[in-house]
Amino acid sequence: MVPGPQIVYKCPNCEHLTQQGTIRSGNTIGATFYSDGKYDAPMMSDILQFNKCRKCETFYWFEGSHELIRYELSIEGHPLQHVESPQLMRIEDFHKALERSIYRTYGEIIYIRQRLMWAYNDQIRFHKNPQSEKIKDYRHYDNLKILMENLFMEKPYHIMLASEIHRNLGEFEKSISLLRALENENYNDKKAKLIQACHQGYRNVLVF
Ligand SMILES: [Zn+2]
Repeated sequence: MVPGPQIVYKCPNCEHLTQQGTIRSGNTIGATFYSDGKYDAPMMSDILQFNKCRKCETFYWFEGSHELIRYELSIEGHPLQHVESPQLMRIEDFHKALERSIYRTYGEIIYIRQRLMWAYNDQIRFHKNPQSEKIKDYRHYDNLKILMENLFMEKPYHIMLASEIHRNLGEFEKSISLLRALENENYNDKKAKLIQACHQGYRNVLVF
């Protein structure tokens, strides 16, 4: 993974600074892929596209209008090198971001809600015994339903995500029929694994 420049952003509310790393080049060699679309890759990090200001808790997108400056990590002693990185976003933060309607497009709704899905699934993903675990917070299932309503069902990735949501909700027949209707060779291995999980009545997130 080759790092790109560090970008320093300014909170639009209180002007508190946050710096975010970037990736110049990376790949998914050696990555672990999950059925909810998340992957953990040693050579590629998932950089969150929005921030919660550490000082005033305003949410804002990491984008040009909030950018103050960018600098290369190779520059030693840069005056902004001690600016803090974004804080880790937790389940309640994603809920807050949705309550405050920080999204402007359907794409951003999907983005936030899929990351909320991942945050809930992390409870199972990293559990010692994932098979027996169940997410108890009903808001997880509400989020899945709303996420599904916002998907673009002409996109294969979204069809896969919708089928995953049906499986998570225990709607196995619906999940299987979406998978069977999807004609895209790239997904054949994943489809087979998901259909098998449906037949076994298994709802939780899977490792591919
Ligand atoms: Zn702020």
